[in-house]
Amino acid sequence: MTSKLETVLQNIQAAAKSTDRKATDITLIAVSKTKAIDVITPILHQGQRIFGENKVQEAGEKWPVLREQYPDIELHLIGPLQTNKTRQAIQIFDVIETVDRPKLARAIARISREENKVCPCYIQINVGREDQKAGINPDEADNFIALCRDELNLPILGLMCIPPAGQDPEPYFLFLKEIAQRNGLSKLSMGMSSDYQTAIRCGSTSVRVGTAIFGTRQNKK
Ligand SMILES: *Cc1c(COP(=O)(O)O)cnc(C)c1O
Repeated sequence: MTSKLETVLQNIQAAAKSTDRKATDITLIAVSKTKAIDVITPILHQGQRIFGENKVQEAGEKWPVLREQYPDIELHLIGPLQTNKTRQAIQIFDVIETVDRPKLARAIARISREENKVCPCYIQINVGREDQKAGINPDEADNFIALCRDELNLPILGLMCIPPAGQDPEPYFLFLKEIAQRNGLSKLSMGMSSDYQTAIRCGSTSVRVGTAIFGTRQNKK
């Protein structure tokens, strides 16, 4: 029987092929938020090593244990980060995808120096300009990227977005790509369970997929 994870990997391959891209250029981030260790372990057994969590505390409870068994795990923070949790986040995560304001960027720069740990980052863009959503306003993106890279020397890998719910995500994916291209950034973290194939056709380099791998979550978040 084909596992859910295998199905997602096959779909990634098909979407890549349909636009003449290599599947190996697309990274799958398995989003394990709200999922217990005994649900995550079978996915590790199937070979998946890159995971996403949206809460610092929850990740801190689950992943240090799993890392003892699987030292090659790569953990991404994909949820909003409160500045006072920056140190914890830098200790727990390998990549922070949700850098979205100067205060947080400055905290990451300072604390990663203190912790002597390189902290690769993505900048989250609020592509739909939604009040309730995290991410920097697209109009401020160029200046913010420059601040992060040139002034703070943060290793910025690329951009991340969550398009507005219930709308065609494609224009938002293309918008993110445009911002990345004009700023010389090569990585795009975009696409979730409902739209990762579309995201790949729009140039996504990493997709963050939860439900399609782990099944539905109790408290939808
Ligand atoms: C939960 C979450 C995902 C995964 O969503 P699914 O629809 O379950 O695939 C991806 N990105 C972010 C930022 C999330 O919070």
